[in-house]
Amino acid sequence: MNSNNIRNFCIIAHIDHGKSTLADRLIETTNTVSEREMKEQLLDNMDLERERGITIKLQTVRMYYKASDNIEYELNLIDTPGHTDFNYEVSRSLAACEGALLLVDATQGVQAQTIANLKLALEQNLTIIPVINKIDMPNADAESVIKELEELEEFDGLDLSNVILASAKNGIGIDDILESIIQHVPAPKGNSEKPLQALIFDSHYDVYRGVVLHIRVFNGSIRAGMKIKMLKSDLVFEALQVGVFLPEMQSVEALDAGEVGFISTNIKVVSNIKVGDTIINPNIPDTEAVPGYKEVKPMVYAGLFPIRNEDQDKLKDAVEKLALNDSAFIYKQENSMALGVGFRCGFLGILHMEIIQERLEREYGIEILSTFPSVEYRVTLKNGEIATINNPMLLPSFEKIDYIEEPFIDAAIIIPMENIGEIMELCQEKRGCYVDMVYLNNKMAELIFKLPISEIAYDFYDSLKSLTHGYASIDYRDRSYVVSDLVKMDIWLNDEMVDAFSFILPRDKSFERGKQIVQKMKHVIPRKLYPMPVQSVVENKVIAREDIPPLRKSVTGKGYSGSTSKKKKIAKNIKDNKVRQRKFGGVDIPQEAFHAVLDVR
Ligand code: GDP
Ligand code: MG
Repeated sequence: MNSNNIRNFCIIAHIDHGKSTLADRLIETTNTVSEREMKEQLLDNMDLERERGITIKLQTVRMYYKASDNIEYELNLIDTPGHTDFNYEVSRSLAACEGALLLVDATQGVQAQTIANLKLALEQNLTIIPVINKIDMPNADAESVIKELEELEEFDGLDLSNVILASAKNGIGIDDILESIIQHVPAPKGNSEKPLQALIFDSHYDVYRGVVLHIRVFNGSIRAGMKIKMLKSDLVFEALQVGVFLPEMQSVEALDAGEVGFISTNIKVVSNIKVGDTIINPNIPDTEAVPGYKEVKPMVYAGLFPIRNEDQDKLKDAVEKLALNDSAFIYKQENSMALGVGFRCGFLGILHMEIIQERLEREYGIEILSTFPSVEYRVTLKNGEIATINNPMLLPSFEKIDYIEEPFIDAAIIIPMENIGEIMELCQEKRGCYVDMVYLNNKMAELIFKLPISEIAYDFYDSLKSLTHGYASIDYRDRSYVVSDLVKMDIWLNDEMVDAFSFILPRDKSFERGKQIVQKMKHVIPRKLYPMPVQSVVENKVIAREDIPPLRKSVTGKGYSGSTSKKKKIAKNIKDNKVRQRKFGGVDIPQEAFHAVLDVR
């Protein structure tokens, strides 16, 4: 297709403002999918996404639309993921577009993610089309929403007279949206005659096709059978199939400059693919990269171990494939005395970790025991050596350590004005340092805090959401290392140290937590016929000790039912009647014991 007749766009919105519903309407209106095939929220295709109501993986769909000028246009809708753990994927998918529909709920107005996503889109120089959705609702107030938009400094000097009023649910304004995309979103600028330059904005593993790359061609054109080179990974492959998402995958002869689609490849080593990398023609090696590539760094790490030893190989295969589908997920083999062979994995956050764990279980049928998460510490030894450690088991002995640094990040937190006090308090509780505060309009403010990743990785996002009733957004920026007084806590069970239980914490919290943890452990470790001591140990000193009482004949094997605390969220993933545990020196270690450690953090 002539690139003048192509439009590449995405939809950005605060959660629940109607992005998926609008995507469905656009697909329906353009007859992209027959009515019979039309499932609601077609683009959120993974079970997990449906259940959690969040979009995790981006999906792309090509639509054809005959506009009022009687010309048929090719529209590529690129869906962007909606959770903060996945910000990098948001920015990569935005980089594949020229325009964005900024969707705002007419009853809710501008919210934190509206602003956060708008900022990301403007960083990519996208043309913004504001759409006010849900105007069918009795309490819709489009006028005030337009006022709120006008107040945003992001819109300074922009004409907001072309705002579209819509109801994705009732199909109002859908034609206006399509026409506006054609009128206002620039056609892609590339040239098919120039050397090939394509952005990999996503990838996935397909049982039939192997590794599939989702690409946006900026210059040149790509056909099946061509040799291609990935710039950052410096590897050459063959494009076996070239195609588009309708949304099911279909072959096309070529993807030309400006187009969006996929290529399948003969890539075997899946870890070679990096989202954000540029594909070029290997014969023209000095072609430039598409700007904005960023190596994603995990924020938290945890060990994943198969419950059944025979799942070892299956787990290796599964993590490899998941890593391909998810550029932010990394893994490395790990050995634990207590848990055997598993993988040390890096995640963008706890939600990300939970999702990976759930996918391993649902999609690959592997039951997993996960250790509690840790961040990556920088340890300077007395002999001057520096070690980077994301597994507390591997922390050198305290006598050898000069000092430990832990990672902090700059968090930009957008919240409603009335919550400023509570959120300031929350950040201080989490050892945060105040940096700045800006008022965005008359109801939202942006707080900048330096926060230790170890304190916010776990339940910070949940606390933030519950304190603001869901009206918060957080974005992480620069990372830095800060010296902290930290110690490693070991847990001894029946006079043996359980290496997988070790964790790193601030020294001034070690006494209290050491006591709490043995009390918890006392309840979650299954009893034996003999009493067993459980001890928390810091720097060779026992902090606290409890004795797990022996099993009496009358006591049935009923497990500890656990606290109902919100922190136990991860535990809910475990099927109720299955006891998940590993044997260690004759003692059973249930998954719950790891949650006990989390609970007292
Ligand atoms: P997303 O989180 O942005 O993808 O939002 P969804 O598309 O999942 O929509 C969230 C909720 O709002 C769902 O219950 C939709 O049915 C509802 N919704 C979406 N658009 C409209 C609309 O135009 N009018 C009304 N009344 N409800 C809508
Ligand atoms: Mg959605």
